[in-house]
Amino acid sequence: QQPDLTADLIKRKLSTVKHKLLVLSGKGGVGKSTITSLISRSLALNNPDINVAVLDIDICGPSQPRVLGVIGEQVHQSGSGWSPVLTDLYKTLARDVFNMLTDIYIDKPDAQLRGMIKQFLSEVDWGALDYLILDTPPGTSDEHLSATSYLKHAGITGVIIITTPQQVALLDVRKEIDFCRKVNIPILGVIENMSIFVCPNCNNSVEIFPALTGGGCVMAKELNVEFLGSLPLDPLLAKCCDEGKNFLTEIPESPTILTLQTIVQKI
Ligand code: ADP
Repeated sequence: QQPDLTADLIKRKLSTVKHKLLVLSGKGGVGKSTITSLISRSLALNNPDINVAVLDIDICGPSQPRVLGVIGEQVHQSGSGWSPVLTDLYKTLARDVFNMLTDIYIDKPDAQLRGMIKQFLSEVDWGALDYLILDTPPGTSDEHLSATSYLKHAGITGVIIITTPQQVALLDVRKEIDFCRKVNIPILGVIENMSIFVCPNCNNSVEIFPALTGGGCVMAKELNVEFLGSLPLDPLLAKCCDEGKNFLTEIPESPTILTLQTIVQKI
């Protein structure tokens, strides 16, 4: 009976959240957390009236506190549950974007990981949200199974899969797609990250993985999922992420943002 009670509780708690998106990748280091933050910031920036929140369920190695610039901030407990952290960057933009606490490193057995995910989903007072975007650990681990099984009753809008155009990463994407199909959650599409590098000095574009640039698109077609687009490797983006700054407002003239906008429009 316990799993049903939990699912019901989560369903009730998330009934004020319109869209629940999961961001997945087969491998670590392909830019999943970076793109999660970019998508959330882009949605918030483009739509002043909507509320966007990010929940990092990569409990053993969370990146969102750093990327969203809220390292060290703590979630507070109130009568209606945990209150998410409002990021300063969004506050200054008067956007309601929140980031749930995961500024901790935990090395715990699966049952405890599951317990924490359950807590994140059932005890946070998100309020009325348009988007809750979940940053997940790489691969298809116990965290994914827990999150998807808990979220399924509350309804998952869809999954976004991040890859680089490397054979090893692309192979893992196939596993991600298989996983989504097995647990019956819709795939919104695949984003290829770090496909090219545009030299800031000469503006020439370099294919980082020459034999495979466009591999994400080919694979998406082959596996019958939407290809949402490619983002370049952009050193200024990496710098902003490291410093917890909002790339979209720090470097507003960046061509990477235009590419990002076309991707976000498809989500
Ligand atoms: P993941 O979440 O898949 O492990 P991250 O988002 O943490 O990957 O990215 C890994 C590293 O690569 C980070 O240092 C990040 O700043 C950098 N990075 C990711 N995408 C890009 C990009 N398009 N351009 C430049 N650096 C990037």
